[in-house]
Amino acid sequence: MNRPVMAANWKMNNGPTTAREFMQTFLAQYPRQNDRTILFFPPTLSMAAVAAALGDRRDILLGVQNVHWADQGAFTGELSVGMVRDAGARVVLVGHSERRHVFGETLDQTALKCAAVERGGLTPMLCVGETLEQREAGRAADVVIEQLRAGFSMMTQLATKDVMVAYEPVWAIGTGHTATADDASRMHRVLRAELIALCGDRARTTPILYGGSVNAANAPELVAAREVDGLLVGGASVDVGSWLAVARA
Ligand code: PEP
Repeated sequence: MNRPVMAANWKMNNGPTTAREFMQTFLAQYPRQNDRTILFFPPTLSMAAVAAALGDRRDILLGVQNVHWADQGAFTGELSVGMVRDAGARVVLVGHSERRHVFGETLDQTALKCAAVERGGLTPMLCVGETLEQREAGRAADVVIEQLRAGFSMMTQLATKDVMVAYEPVWAIGTGHTATADDASRMHRVLRAELIALCGDRARTTPILYGGSVNAANAPELVAAREVDGLLVGGASVDVGSWLAVARA
């Protein structure tokens, strides 16, 4: 099994001061571990605080929640891949369900963003997931395959460059409803097969994370599920106490 990736998506929580305090507590209680990778997606404004706190903790990665696909230009309020790389980001979330469903991010835009991330030498973590309506219509697998193909469609080095995928059913994000370990395994198997078709054998070890109302109680079973290579955690990652419990799962 791959070394699990435990990723914290703080969403629009934990500004610089809170982030500094969070990291101080977290690092004091979380010594270097070789059996898992921790990854933080703080708000962009808090990246400097997290990067400074991490210092030489190379076992913990820094990511960013969103980027624009252009390298530079007149895009008020946006950030390029070059800028977030300069600020210490190694991984970029693309296609998070809140970007797709709250901000209207399209399949084409996820493709442009993944291509920009590849061009900039960072790793995209493409999030895919079906709505409840799509699930009830029996379309869950078709939807995630479409999102996966579209998101990676403009990348040119899939056979050699690292990517990550997060399966996050929309009906499970921030709702308290979690997929069962079997549900997650089933969808991860679908995603793995498609990834191998897209990227070749390399994709056998591509991390596929599960996300959706993960907490300290359900994390151990989910992270142990077949084909689940880690967890992407929103709500339960914002508070340092609950994140410590999940990160240790
Ligand atoms: C997320 O934001 O990626 C997420 C899975 O949120 P939550 O854990 O709150 O459902």
